[in-house]
Amino acid sequence: MGNILVTGALGQIGSELVPALRAEYGRDRVIATDLKVLPPTGAEALAPYDHLDCTDPHQLHEAVRRHDVSTIYHLAALLSASAEAAPQFAWTVNMSSLYNVLEVARGYGCQVFFPSSIGAFGPDTPRDMTPQVTVQRPTTIYGVTKVSGELLCDYYASRFGVDTRGLRLPGLVSYAAAPGGGTTDYAVEMFCHAVRYGQYTCFLAPDTRLDMAYMPDAVDGMMRLMATDAGKLRYRNAYNITAMSVTPEEIAAAIRAHMPGFEIDYEIDPVRQAIADSWPRSLDDSAARADWGWSPKFDLHAMARDMLLRLGEKMK
Ligand code: NAD
Repeated sequence: MGNILVTGALGQIGSELVPALRAEYGRDRVIATDLKVLPPTGAEALAPYDHLDCTDPHQLHEAVRRHDVSTIYHLAALLSASAEAAPQFAWTVNMSSLYNVLEVARGYGCQVFFPSSIGAFGPDTPRDMTPQVTVQRPTTIYGVTKVSGELLCDYYASRFGVDTRGLRLPGLVSYAAAPGGGTTDYAVEMFCHAVRYGQYTCFLAPDTRLDMAYMPDAVDGMMRLMATDAGKLRYRNAYNITAMSVTPEEIAAAIRAHMPGFEIDYEIDPVRQAIADSWPRSLDDSAARADWGWSPKFDLHAMARDMLLRLGEKMK
């Protein structure tokens, strides 16, 4: 078995996925890569780390060859709100990087993880208990790149036998790294502002219901999916997963159970509200549970307790 390469490793997911992969497979076997150039002091703590722009096929090819890579977790992308602010750039980053990853995987026989999103659905999709296989006509450029990415993964699996695997991730809540420009960033911000200021102004309406999961469950899901026997997987584009379907006011209430003085008000951002209103309210993740054992441990209250504890320690 070769080594594992993670693209976009310095983002919200990579900051927790890389340590989890290193704990499981050994530090030297997991190569963190990102577009960001690390200061010399930070580089040692993250080693092995390579600066890698995965829109450049040569850099990617060279990294996979040099590090004897057999598995790629491809996290690099522009997220929903950032993508909507720069749609042409988002298409280039999200699609050319995935194409490069799949091509290099075809050449070197690598397994590939691709994170799709609840953003891969649109206003024509059934919004409650959204099925695994359903209408996917997103109205955001982010969603367009995620549906196209799912189809490309399917194509490389059936046409070239590349071992592609993916998840339609819900909004992810975590404390290790700041979220990177998504529509569900408010959930993380709400916890951080609660601990720091006791108050948060939310950019989505109080009753906007969306799927979420706590990062430890999401990381466990990615690693579990990648370790599953190929024969058990019915879907090679991406599996629906979720751990909770919640609104901003429900998250605020879960915070108030630990911090009774926490206050929330709302200043709605029409761009992100429109994105959220085009997404499912709750996903049906039964295929993921049946095929490879998706089984999140954190519900809203367990997540709120853990987030407030960890952030309290971090901000001491
Ligand atoms: P993030 O924005 O926090 O991190 C992305 C990282 O990719 C950044 O460190 C950035 O520097 C890097 N990057 C950007 N362009 C690059 C390039 N050309 N080459 C190499 N690196 C580049 O994102 P995240 O939250 O960690 O998300 C990772 C993946 O998961 C994305 O594909 C995202 O669409 C998907 N996803 C995330 C969430 C979530 O809630 N975080 C939900 C659904 C799907």
